[in-house]
Amino acid sequence: MYLYNSASRKKEVFTPREEGRVTIYTCGPTVYHFAHIGNLRTYTMEDVLEKYLRYLGYDVDRVMNITDVGHLSSDGDTGEDKMLKGAKREHKTVMEIAQYYTDAFFADCNKLNIRIPDTVEPATNCVPEFITMVSELLEKGFAYEAGGNIYFDTSKLDKYYIFNDFEEEDLAVGVRDSVEEDGNKRNKADFVLWFTKSKFEDQELKWPSPWGIGYPGWHIECSCIARKHLGEYLDIHCGGIDNAFPHHTNEIAQSESTFGHEWCRYWFHVHHLNTNSGKMSKSKGEFLTVSLLEEKGYDPLVYRFFCLQSHYRKNLVFSWDNLDNARTAYNKLIARVAQLKAGGDVDSNVFAEAKKRFTDALDNDMNTSLAVTALYDVFKLTAGDATKLALIEDFDKVLSLDLIAKAAKLNEKDEQSDEGAGVDPELLAYINSMIDARRAAKKEKNFAEADRIRDELLAKGITLLDTREGTKFSING
Ligand code: AMP
Ligand code: ZN
Repeated sequence: MYLYNSASRKKEVFTPREEGRVTIYTCGPTVYHFAHIGNLRTYTMEDVLEKYLRYLGYDVDRVMNITDVGHLSSDGDTGEDKMLKGAKREHKTVMEIAQYYTDAFFADCNKLNIRIPDTVEPATNCVPEFITMVSELLEKGFAYEAGGNIYFDTSKLDKYYIFNDFEEEDLAVGVRDSVEEDGNKRNKADFVLWFTKSKFEDQELKWPSPWGIGYPGWHIECSCIARKHLGEYLDIHCGGIDNAFPHHTNEIAQSESTFGHEWCRYWFHVHHLNTNSGKMSKSKGEFLTVSLLEEKGYDPLVYRFFCLQSHYRKNLVFSWDNLDNARTAYNKLIARVAQLKAGGDVDSNVFAEAKKRFTDALDNDMNTSLAVTALYDVFKLTAGDATKLALIEDFDKVLSLDLIAKAAKLNEKDEQSDEGAGVDPELLAYINSMIDARRAAKKEKNFAEADRIRDELLAKGITLLDTREGTKFSING
């Protein structure tokens, strides 16, 4: 399998350190708000990677942190503490906010069929581990104390910039969203390992440390949580591309200075979900959640399908039109699966050939859009339905689109109502999804959208009729 490694900027053959076993570390969410669908694009694509490695037969050990302390509104140690911001916004304690949004994150993952890693560790569980690593870095001369805080000294490294070739001078612009400068830093790129005396006097969570009562910086948590559960070596580290710098760069600096050797072999970065006005971000305040998609009548798996249709290393533009197209395609796909009849023998030659097209796509740096094409190709095979169904079930171990279960449900629904009798299943799936969307639009009192949907159907010769039993349809001509 080939995987693009952002550290070498090349596609490389993937070889785990230990035969048959892969260790993965994933930067988890900062739980001061709901995850937006941009965050969830990253977790969806990481999920596909993990599932594909399992599909190939590897044992996967994957660990994820939950950031519930230390992440400031600028990734470069300035601004307000994000958790505190969330707590103030909702008049709750930081731990209440953390619990609420951690649960919400897991609920979103479940809806999107994202497997939650076996080990999920909140940062606030690991303060002793943070103190140990900071002490080691001080001992080895990679860190210093200034103004009450402990900083990592980036000038001690031969190579600090792993993912970007920044010039020291550019950093004033490159790292900082804000213009604040921290006069304690010896070098512009230095970053905080442990805060004690600082402007964050109202910090709610504080712990005793050898350097005074305080709290950890954001970057140290991932280095320590990865070490706690996976040891000194990692095969793959994942995250969104915005995490590459400074967060992952700083993780590498800390871990490799502590261990004295290379830490992580492959860096997997998912590019952003953007809207027409730019990157979707929690701090902007306006963002889309899975619940909002549901309120608008979308099955969350439509969003998963939308993500799979594009490559993880390209920015993906979200628009409602794009999502509508994904919904139509997804519903058609389910309708086609529903037409296949169970029973009969699987043709092992045809199965192997089709499977190879699927694995070739994913072996080439997780090309999920080609993998989806390989799925469509299944319907064109010269083979019985049993072979096709077996392939779909097999591919769905990675894609997780619930294709077989949804098709069975669709068949059940059709059996119960005679309204759709004789209607092409694809057309029926389309009409039903439009009826669902119209119902959701009405619920939101978005009557313009409800009317638009009715008119779109009408233009196709489909008339809707609202009855006491629900919306019925008739097809003209
Ligand atoms: P956060 O909760 O802000 O720590 O982010 C959680 C994950 O989502 C990180 O891996 C980020 O890099 C990633 N992320 C943030 N914004 C986006 C976006 N617009 N599209 C894709 N991934 C994102
Ligand atoms: Zn991290």
